[in-house]
Amino acid sequence: MYFQRALFFSWYCALGDCTFCYMSTQKENIIDPKKARRRFSSIFAEAIISKVCNWKIEFVSGGYHSYSLDELVFLVKGVYEITGQKQWLNIGSLSKIQLEKFLPFVEGYAGTVECVNWDLRKQVCPSKHLQPILKAFAACEDLGIKKAMTLIIGLGETIDDFKELESFVKEHKIDRITFYALNPHPQTVFTRPPNREYYAEWIKRTKAVFPDLEIVAGAWTDKIEYYKEVLLAGADDITKLPSIRKFNSPELQQLQKDLEPFDFQSNLVSLPDVDWDSLVDELSSKTFSLELKEEIKKKLATYLKQMKRNG
Ligand code: SF4
Repeated sequence: MYFQRALFFSWYCALGDCTFCYMSTQKENIIDPKKARRRFSSIFAEAIISKVCNWKIEFVSGGYHSYSLDELVFLVKGVYEITGQKQWLNIGSLSKIQLEKFLPFVEGYAGTVECVNWDLRKQVCPSKHLQPILKAFAACEDLGIKKAMTLIIGLGETIDDFKELESFVKEHKIDRITFYALNPHPQTVFTRPPNREYYAEWIKRTKAVFPDLEIVAGAWTDKIEYYKEVLLAGADDITKLPSIRKFNSPELQQLQKDLEPFDFQSNLVSLPDVDWDSLVDELSSKTFSLELKEEIKKKLATYLKQMKRNG
């Protein structure tokens, strides 16, 4: 069992109106999407740390319009080369032609479904329409790549909506699902996360109906006690931890201990003694220029300093 880390390439979203989302509180502050994007060196540094600490990459994720398609293909190729792991894409709705460009480096496409109570979904994701996601799923079928979906629990749905999830997963032949327990952000209309038992119930029912579906489940560092519960309910991996910023913090120390009985393979607490600069030097110079490698080393040093702070 692993911790899966999402790699974000930007903090911008052109939609910006999902009522639960932090981005919806920031939209007016970010006028230029290019200003909200992260440098590739930071993302590659994060991918190197993830590999060394045995964190899987959940998906490469980011808001619409921050990078050109060719830049994103380069980014995903770089992450693939660093990790040796084909990547999942969570970058909005993609056409078949667009998806095709990523093909050698991707395992699948993740559609941000978020809510399966369809009336409620129209309210909480007014601009993130389902149709383009379904089109991308159809393109995945044609291209022979996998499909994943995200689902947030705690938006106002009830367990009666589980039947909608069941039909959706069946109809679209979903291979992986990521559950999130709602993390209510200040300035949004949400104030309470779902309780642990209710959250786990969704996972339990999903596992019972789809024993082969890969289930990833996230909570947050203020809900550390949820993780054990979701694994007992049937989740395969966990996600949604600020694993660099909180590395070796009391919360993650507790979690690392709690997860021992689940054969937890990821390291959230003790920084491996490796020659980080050599890891960068070893990267293919066809993809990573000397200049980019130097930038990655600098970024790595910053992250590692942050990770050692709690040690
Ligand atoms: S599309 Fe995604 S990033 Fe944009 S507001 Fe909705 S949830 Fe947030």
